Amino acid sequence: MTVIDGKQTAADIKAEIAATVAAAVAAGRRAPHLAAILVGHDGGSETYVANKIKACEACGFRSSLIRFESTDTEPLSEGTLLDAIRTLNADPDVDGFIVQLPLPSHIDEQKIIEAIDPAKDVDGFHPVNVGRHAIGLPSFRPATPAGIVELLKRYNIPTAGRHAVIIGRSNIVGKPLATMLAQKGVDATVTLCHSRTRNLAEICRRADILVAALGRPAFVTADMVADGAVVIDVGTTRVADASRKSGFRLSGDVDYNAVAPKCSFITPVPGGVGPMTIAMLMANTLQAWNKR
Ligand code: NAP
Repeated sequence: MTVIDGKQTAADIKAEIAATVAAAVAAGRRAPHLAAILVGHDGGSETYVANKIKACEACGFRSSLIRFESTDTEPLSEGTLLDAIRTLNADPDVDGFIVQLPLPSHIDEQKIIEAIDPAKDVDGFHPVNVGRHAIGLPSFRPATPAGIVELLKRYNIPTAGRHAVIIGRSNIVGKPLATMLAQKGVDATVTLCHSRTRNLAEICRRADILVAALGRPAFVTADMVADGAVVIDVGTTRVADASRKSGFRLSGDVDYNAVAPKCSFITPVPGGVGPMTIAMLMANTLQAWNKR
């Protein structure tokens, strides 16, 4: 059984990007520039954005953080956020930007996503990028599923003709991952499962590659996994843990200790898919900068 080291793979990718950027900067080009918009003070979002800024430093990118306050008494207006997006769309010094989700519930997330210039949409959530990706055209791919495909590739895990079962059909993980794995060249046979799927355990047992992306701690138990399967755990649920300074720990969707002995490969939580998400965001930003 091999434990897939997402942290090391992400570090390798960032080092490769940093080398490309350093060579271009030495030749006189300006460095790539990623901007992030953060609304409010959600703990998870603060951490993700801080990690993205740190990753920019590691890659030799410039980064900008645009913060907006939003409270129950003084909610941020959608118009103010749309104005900020228009400014970033028009700024020639910004190669790509993200609006950290989730947004406060009074703001229409889809409207915000659709306001982003697809050429700067390094999260790959704009319908133009989603559509282009679906039909195999060059596009920005959402970072988490792209990170999973990259891990499979770098660990030489075969996908052609293999049965990949994905639990979870979100727009940011499950659905785009199904598209990526079914793409020509990757060639997996994909089953996409969700809360209405019948006989889920039985379907999972038929997976060569099982991806758990539903957000339910330890949902995938040993009886759901075939001997020799590849198991990718996307889940990152905060569960209370009084022994930690933060008061919580991250739990994956897989019952790791029971499942790992049955696997050929497995990703841990943390240190598996999570770090790859940020590395792939950096790769998308490099791609945006390359295209300019
Ligand atoms: P989400 O939007 O919360 O959707 C969950 C999906 O799981 C839905 O499609 C839902 O089905 C399905 N589901 C829920 N309970 C189920 C059950 N009992 N059986 C089968 N399917 C079930 O998902 P998400 O945003 O993709 O997040 C999933 C997990 O991944 C979360 O823990 C999240 O924190 C984590 N995540 C991690 C990263 C990372 O970088 N590591 C990035 C993104 C997300 P329905 O559609 O039928 O409701």
